[in-house]
Amino acid sequence: MSSKDSTVTKIVIVVVGGSILASVTYVAGRIWPAFEQWIVGSISTIAAVVAAPVSVPLWLFLPIFAFALLPIVGFVLGRRKSFPRTTTWRDFKEAEYFGVVWRWLYERDDTIIHLIPYCLHCNLQLNTSERYISQYQRGTEFHCDDCGQVATMPDEKVEAWKKVSRRIYRDIANEVWKGK
Ligand SMILES: [Zn+2]
Repeated sequence: MSSKDSTVTKIVIVVVGGSILASVTYVAGRIWPAFEQWIVGSISTIAAVVAAPVSVPLWLFLPIFAFALLPIVGFVLGRRKSFPRTTTWRDFKEAEYFGVVWRWLYERDDTIIHLIPYCLHCNLQLNTSERYISQYQRGTEFHCDDCGQVATMPDEKVEAWKKVSRRIYRDIANEVWKGK
């Protein structure tokens, strides 16, 4: 490319570029005032609508206020509900066996712990003692200090507790807890 060609190219670029810039500026200059007017108009219209005073009867504030509180109430109730959790077999912690109300807890490994007998009638924790229920057989007596209710199991204490545990595990397996 000769230096003359180069000069011509530069001139063409300047002329064409200048024309495009001038056209854009001109068009923008013609369009901008209308555009600006439209933006300002829209904003002031929205502002006027939003800021317009309306007369609302006072009683209407009550439902509006209550409605606004709903999400907060829902959140609080939701939290409260989520703590007792959905019912699982681990919520099965009370049942009646052998005329006695039994309550218990579960260890991490699902073992039943704190298996305690309560009076079927007055809910007092029962007093337990082993005694002969026949000439050769020792059994466990459950005695209520309050109402005098007595229940007897034909097993020594350790076996009686094991017997009750087996019933609990059976009821867990049979999903009896679902009805509790
Ligand atoms: Zn009692």
